[in-house]
Amino acid sequence: MTVAAVIVAGGSGLRAGGEKPKQYQLIGGRPVIWWTCRAFLAHRGIAIVQAVIGEGHEQMFAEAVKGLELPLPVIGGSTRQESCRIGIEAVARHKPSKVLIHDAARPFVSERLIDSVISWLDRFPAAIPGMPVAETLKFAPGGMVSRTVDRAAIWTAQTPQGFLYDGILDAYRKAEAERTQGLTDDASVAEHAGIAISMIPGDMENRKLTTADDIVMADRDMTGRQLQERPDVRVGQGIDVHPFEDGEAVILCGVAIPHTQKLKGHSDADVAMHALTDAILGTIGEGDIGTHFPPSDPQWKGAASRIFLAKAVELLEAKRGIVANADITILAEAPKIAPHVAAMRACLAPLLHVDATRIAVKATTMERLGAIGRKEGIMAYATVTVRLP
Ligand code: MG
Repeated sequence: MTVAAVIVAGGSGLRAGGEKPKQYQLIGGRPVIWWTCRAFLAHRGIAIVQAVIGEGHEQMFAEAVKGLELPLPVIGGSTRQESCRIGIEAVARHKPSKVLIHDAARPFVSERLIDSVISWLDRFPAAIPGMPVAETLKFAPGGMVSRTVDRAAIWTAQTPQGFLYDGILDAYRKAEAERTQGLTDDASVAEHAGIAISMIPGDMENRKLTTADDIVMADRDMTGRQLQERPDVRVGQGIDVHPFEDGEAVILCGVAIPHTQKLKGHSDADVAMHALTDAILGTIGEGDIGTHFPPSDPQWKGAASRIFLAKAVELLEAKRGIVANADITILAEAPKIAPHVAAMRACLAPLLHVDATRIAVKATTMERLGAIGRKEGIMAYATVTVRLP
């Protein structure tokens, strides 16, 4: 039995504000859609996770789910109904027996809820999770109460909505052929086709992120969860130094700063990123940069140091670890670092998968003392806290 999941992310998500659609905004250091896709990828009962994205979102999607093993997304249509049909058609070649259709903007979907929807499909051709309504419902057309609605049988619908695959595919094709529009969820399409749908208990946590406030709150919750699940706190340190040579810019924390010299090294000589990389490796006892990227290996000549940092983060994450904070101090007489600190934090945050507020970059001169004071090079110290399960 093959179960497919279709993740619907076609919307422009503009109600949440911000520069990006809500499904691409960061919560807990990762895009909303990363968490959503990962929840289904990590579920042993799901064989295929197919995302449906908006036109023009290809690049944004590729960056958002980097590291997850997903097939290429399909491009959705102008309505949710159309996007879902395209997603359902896209998994046909895997011949699934069941399909779960889920909103990308519900990143808190639990393993238990996915299990529940899949297993209810053994008894019904469709099953959708929902929440009973706790508040009193008023029917108030034009703002005037005309009556109280009996809420006993009223539910709000969540996703994932589960269906026997052939049934929902036919239902969508039928709606398409009839040009029936405006069906806002998959269950409405199934209802329209006369499929029996079981209403099953949803999950309060499985809310849909819609507004800017939802994103802020979800960020807090997701970060809190990540920390709570990882009580093993560790600290790592890293120190690095590179001498100057002739050149026009130094690269520090991934940012090129115009200068009368450059730093000498096998890679791009980003001394601050090297110290940070060693600090992370230190937290998990994984040696240092040289262990993983020997300077004797010509392939690292001139390499961007973000490759080294990404590797250290990957090793940490393989142990289910996360970065809690990073504190970097750069020792240099020149160039001036302060004007570039914001750009440095913005460069490091996505590499460490944390919010920029968890990264500090500071700089000090050596008051002209010693080799650094004589402007012979730049030195950097990094301290990192990580948390592991
Ligand atoms: Mg170095």
